[in-house]
Amino acid sequence: MGEKHPITGGTTMQDQTLARQLLDFLQESPSCYHAVDALSRTLREAGYTFLPEARPWALAPGGKYFTVRGDSSLIAFRLPAGRPRGFLIAAGHSDSPTLKLRENAELPSPGGAMRLSVEPYGGGIWRSWMDRPLSVAGRITVEAEGRIETRLVQVDRDLLVIPSVAIHMNREVNKGTALDPAVDLPPLLGVGTEAGSFRALIAREAGVAEEAILTTELFLYPRTPGTLLGIQEELIAAPRLDDLQCVFACTRGFLAAGESESVPVLCVFNNEEVGSNTRQGADSTFLTDILARIGEGAGLSGEDYRAAIASSFLVSADNAHAVHPAHGEYADKNEFPVLGGGIVLKYNANQRYTTDALSAAVFRQVCRMAEVPVQLYSNRADLPGGSTLGNISSAHLSVPSVDIGLPQLAMHASWEVASVADTGALMRAMEVYFSRTLQVLPDGSMQL
Ligand code: ZN
Repeated sequence: MGEKHPITGGTTMQDQTLARQLLDFLQESPSCYHAVDALSRTLREAGYTFLPEARPWALAPGGKYFTVRGDSSLIAFRLPAGRPRGFLIAAGHSDSPTLKLRENAELPSPGGAMRLSVEPYGGGIWRSWMDRPLSVAGRITVEAEGRIETRLVQVDRDLLVIPSVAIHMNREVNKGTALDPAVDLPPLLGVGTEAGSFRALIAREAGVAEEAILTTELFLYPRTPGTLLGIQEELIAAPRLDDLQCVFACTRGFLAAGESESVPVLCVFNNEEVGSNTRQGADSTFLTDILARIGEGAGLSGEDYRAAIASSFLVSADNAHAVHPAHGEYADKNEFPVLGGGIVLKYNANQRYTTDALSAAVFRQVCRMAEVPVQLYSNRADLPGGSTLGNISSAHLSVPSVDIGLPQLAMHASWEVASVADTGALMRAMEVYFSRTLQVLPDGSMQL
């Protein structure tokens, strides 16, 4: 590697405690809607005021606020006591690959079985969803006194399973068998199940009359809770680490940070796994709308606002691939992150990652101040990578930005593996980042 850090299995008590709190957050977040709901509760408890987008805002110096779009994307910010100098932004995503239930979900199947009709959301490793307890979470709309309201729903018990075909019927199964989502992935709800039972269950769980349900937006989630494992409990294994691990660490750093003359802005976007071009995704006007309102609320003129934008910075925090212990060949020979090696700085020559020399230098300085290790990631030069929140946000808001993440294995499996120590490293780095004031000098040099 370009840069070597001692990898120690040992983690501090502080990092272990933080990782257990991450497990609690993952448990509270079976869907993107629940993740944003959990974050909203945390922000309210920390004294943040919710600002609905559809009402005029009155912002006060020193005020702490957040807003939500589409029940699944969130932006939180703090105003400095004086005139804001710019925006220090960090962004992660609330969604993960899963199987989405069809509106007409019940699917009568052979043997008196009732299954539920599903459609893949994002690019999951679907085999990892089989042969384990699953359930359902998401949101529904209900009619209440002529209004259309959304309600969160979680069936908080083991409800479903996607059974494999026995090896006796398919001797080739361990050589890799394609799964057809339409055929193989509908989960089993029961046998001898009466038609309409599923909708009745959802109504019961939501505490509403069945007739009141207008529409549903429900997803499967794996029931097995996350855990710490490894010989020294240095690993965390759980569903949805991509990207709730980064979201959690950024939120904790955001809340722990001290005073800054820049505006700290925490963004959590939905729909990263399906391309971000939705009403609340990173490829929407959500962030630029909110920054403009902050500028107006803080009394910045149009000219002041543009100068503030030019004194801003974006950290796009999304998990990265650690080198796989069985398959080192997929990694670049020099720039491969390891579990427990610290925060990953992602590079791509074609700018699929937004990191450039200047933004990387700024972020390295943050990590140095936080005393946390940094490691590098590049895709193997012949393997293409995907787009990120960073370059999608850059299309709307052109500020220096850096793509970072935490190293993990088994990305997009129903259970993923990451490091306890790295979670703590990102939290400390973000605490430093959000505590600083960014100054961009007339010659373009930056001081944080
Ligand atoms: Zn991700």
